[in-house]
Amino acid sequence: MRLKHSIPCIVLALTASCAVPSTPKRVSRSSIKTPNPKENTQNNSSVKNENSQKVQRVGKEIFVRQNIGDISKNDNTISYSAVVKSNLPGYNVSTQYLPSIAQNFRQKFIILHYTAIDDDTSLLALTQRNVSAHYLINAKEDNDIYLLVDENKRAYHAGISSWREDNNLNDNSIGIEIVNLGNKNGGQDMSAFQPFPEYQIKKVAALVKDLATRYNIKPQNIIGHSDIAPTRKPDPGPMFPWKRLYNEYGIGMWYNESDKNAELMRISSTENFTEPLSPSLILQFQKKLKDFGYDVLPSGSWDEVTKKTTLAFQYHFRPQKSDGALDAETFAILTSLIKKYPK
Ligand SMILES: [Zn+2]
Repeated sequence: MRLKHSIPCIVLALTASCAVPSTPKRVSRSSIKTPNPKENTQNNSSVKNENSQKVQRVGKEIFVRQNIGDISKNDNTISYSAVVKSNLPGYNVSTQYLPSIAQNFRQKFIILHYTAIDDDTSLLALTQRNVSAHYLINAKEDNDIYLLVDENKRAYHAGISSWREDNNLNDNSIGIEIVNLGNKNGGQDMSAFQPFPEYQIKKVAALVKDLATRYNIKPQNIIGHSDIAPTRKPDPGPMFPWKRLYNEYGIGMWYNESDKNAELMRISSTENFTEPLSPSLILQFQKKLKDFGYDVLPSGSWDEVTKKTTLAFQYHFRPQKSDGALDAETFAILTSLIKKYPK
């Protein structure tokens, strides 16, 4: 699109002829701070090669022209990358960015993984096979963090996946693979999994914090592979320190202890958690899992999907006792999380 053709499109937006969902931000004239008073004397001002130009008049209408790449706007449109555009022989594709206010980032989730293989094999697999992630955190005590896929492109890390209203999370997530050998003997308890060294946790925390800030990603959208694919994937597993990340770095979700204890008292006095569990209790729990974000079909029966989802939930929020069984504390933690992070 030629630069000179961009301007009529802005004008058309005033009359809703550009099929845009909302018109540009309209402001009262008295509230406008005009960098150049002469601009306000023009009836149909043209877009100039001045990033400082904030205001444009088109007929009687006044529009704010702001650089949405400005971090101070805190409008979920912060970008440090180059603008990707067509470069067509014979056409003047604008090298000046004329940012629309009607845009946001596609990155909505941060998904954490472990590779279950060592450093060299991880790098090979994630760069030379049909699987990838945006970032790879190695297991070495150094300052390296590897970028494998441009943040603006899709990486193949999530697979068939679901969280709350979203499916196929490769489309709108940043994937971070952490080199960790995972579950070495196939057991479910903590001792089957490998710990994450301190220097690796610090790298993960710094990277997730930066991504979450730049893309304004909600705490409830910073989750593990096991959360979005609980029937298929255990990673990042019960050794991953979600609670520490929340407490020490403000990353992701954690429940309020007081909410959990109150719910624990309530549910323990009203429900019986000894086997066999009643269909009504199972149904309540399944509805809560679904309400929180997991892809569970409430049926009232303790099926394989519910069991694996319960295990995934425990890996994240009650790792010290990850057995895939429904007990009062698991129920209470889930309830308190829904209260704190409603859809
Ligand atoms: Zn994974």
